[in-house]
Amino acid sequence: MPDDMVGAHIRGVRNALAAGWRVLERGGPALDAIEEAVVILEDDDTFDAGRGSFLNRDGKVQLDALIMDGATLRAGGVGCVERLRNPVRTARKILSESPHVYFVAEGAERFAAEHGVELCANEDLVIPREVERLREYQQDAAGHGHELFAPNISHDTVGAVALDRDGNIAAATSTGGTLNKAPGRLGDSSLIGCGCYADNLSAAVSTTGWGEPIMKLVLAKWTADRVQAGNLPEWAAQEAMNYLKQRLNGHGGIIVLNALGQFGIAHNTPRMAWAIKTVSKEDAGIEII
Ligand code: ASP
Repeated sequence: MPDDMVGAHIRGVRNALAAGWRVLERGGPALDAIEEAVVILEDDDTFDAGRGSFLNRDGKVQLDALIMDGATLRAGGVGCVERLRNPVRTARKILSESPHVYFVAEGAERFAAEHGVELCANEDLVIPREVERLREYQQDAAGHGHELFAPNISHDTVGAVALDRDGNIAAATSTGGTLNKAPGRLGDSSLIGCGCYADNLSAAVSTTGWGEPIMKLVLAKWTADRVQAGNLPEWAAQEAMNYLKQRLNGHGGIIVLNALGQFGIAHNTPRMAWAIKTVSKEDAGIEII
């Protein structure tokens, strides 16, 4: 995250926090809170989710999202969608209104349209900053053949976890994936147990970072299992980052929350924007806490 983007990231996560908190404050479910928080982040072009996402090799936005309910283990996911402004909204509809769990590409868009979601044009999701970023990347790659997922490429996937008054937790993750990805490539973010997981008996987890290593390690579930075994979310989050680095030289970040309200935030990248609110405190930052 370059210095000149720090302010926008902090503002973005604070706005998302406020939207989620409004739901929780009036006694609403964690599931609604995280959906509203992620919608704010998808709408904010600072992040790699919704409009303003990284472009794939063809210059298109291709989005993935997952939402999961820790109380029931119900989940809804979409992958490789190109005409949804807020993939998390459709993921939520899948969770609530479909016997299925996961839809991809045109089938996901058809499900969305059939359930009252207005489709947009892919161009509506593309912003000039990302057209330029892709152009520079492809020019540079042609010249130097640099590594596709070099650690110096930023990751801006968004995610949220929440605990409500009824003691239920939930998690959601939404992304445009990685810059210059091949069309049809799916990362960790929308895969159950990889980029997102929620179970009241263990933890709600959302990850960001280089998706291929994260999915090979099924990292969100790996982390939730450690919480279920009796470890603190704070410890499990840090351990997950150590495991990611040591096992596959991966990099990323993670947020973890259990049904007792204990939480962990960790990343092995230099920065990751985060924000947290409880009844007694509110905080946000970009460095490790
Ligand atoms: N994890 C995402 C992916 O690989 C990218 C990110 O977190 O920014 O698709």
